[in-house]
Amino acid sequence: LIRLKLTGPIETTLCDYETIESINDDLFNQLHALVETPFFKYFRVDLYRDCPYWEENGFCANRECGITTVDESEIPEKWRAAALSKVKMPSKDEGISLPGCYYRDSDYCFLDDPSDGEYVDLTLNPERFTGYVGPSAHRVWSAIYSENCFGLSQQTVLKDSAPEVVQADGECLEQRVYYRIISGLHTSISTHICHDMMNQSTGEWGPDLQCFINRVAAHPERLQYLYFDVVLLLRAVARLGPYLSAYDYCGTDEHLKGVDLETHRRLGRVIDIATTVGKFDETALFRGENANTLKEEFKEHFRNVTRIMDCVGCDKCRLWGKVQTTGVATALKVLFELDEKALDPSANPNLLQRSEVVALINTLHRFAESLAAVNDFRRLWAAADARD
Ligand code: FAD
Repeated sequence: LIRLKLTGPIETTLCDYETIESINDDLFNQLHALVETPFFKYFRVDLYRDCPYWEENGFCANRECGITTVDESEIPEKWRAAALSKVKMPSKDEGISLPGCYYRDSDYCFLDDPSDGEYVDLTLNPERFTGYVGPSAHRVWSAIYSENCFGLSQQTVLKDSAPEVVQADGECLEQRVYYRIISGLHTSISTHICHDMMNQSTGEWGPDLQCFINRVAAHPERLQYLYFDVVLLLRAVARLGPYLSAYDYCGTDEHLKGVDLETHRRLGRVIDIATTVGKFDETALFRGENANTLKEEFKEHFRNVTRIMDCVGCDKCRLWGKVQTTGVATALKVLFELDEKALDPSANPNLLQRSEVVALINTLHRFAESLAAVNDFRRLWAAADARD
């Protein structure tokens, strides 16, 4: 039933499980230090937009669902709302603006209007068990998986069925990749919940092996998709290498200059790892005569997933849902929309919004942390077996 040890090639990539295992400690350590720095820990987000798809009454009364925001005076000046609102919004021909959010034609996500929302210190609001369960959470997951239904071989989606039903035989490569991305993200979120779970009777926090077995290990493909997502994100970071290396992580803030050097050193290491092991061939997708239509659909459906985040009825879950869907969307844009010329930092210094860079690195950190948590669960499981 359960094969927690994965070996061999990671399907639809040019990488294998053993390689990802071998680099994850280093990758996770570098990312862990990076996401503690001022540039990467402050994320500007609008958590209070209405759910555009249904009347959302889901309300999580649990204390763990709440988040703490940061007063703007703590944020380096360059990233405050007044400075951000000078960011050029897309013109009518370049994209779509809705109240509070917008996207450009090349974007795979809705981005918050820079002047809306508040700053959150991500390190003070860790992703973990919050008690957000039941119909509201299931409805959101179900809606997310329903967006998987696109492409030339459209399947009928049973709205409230188990998401796996949506994955049907005979689907095209793009549809399979899409499903993997979503399922891998779901696996990562479930792994964090199970790894940082509150024991309801003692009030203590810690890993819950049975939770992990039920939600992840009993479905080996879910674990495989977590590795798949890591390869995909690494490939995007590899392609973005020159852009990320040239990026200004401290603005004019003198006291951040030392942090900036350290940030560049650590990012350099992450980019090296990504370049060596991020073996995903993005050119294998969106080929053939209907390629453009398929890509536009893929993009539109992923954008919808980022909007579904406004329907998540728990602030902390919505926060991390937004960070991670924006992070994956940024990776998809880098892989499928931007050529070498566009990625050139001297030709295109404003290629990405700050929030996209922050989301991409934090999302890769979430996934690398999930892989580390899986290793913890492997050890716990072996210890439990030895006791029996
Ligand atoms: P769920 O995880 O809700 O899954 C629903 C159904 O999806 C399952 O019955 C199964 O059929 C299928 N499924 C499960 N995993 C996969 C997979 N990897 N691939 C394919 N199909 C799958 N809760 C927290 O405590 N903390 C959080 O930070 C948090 N963040 C969330 C963020 C988002 C965007 C959403 C939508 C929910 C979040 N939740 C969070 C809620 C959490 O994800 C679960 O919904 C909740 O814990 C209930 O879990 P469950 O076991 O009933 O199944």
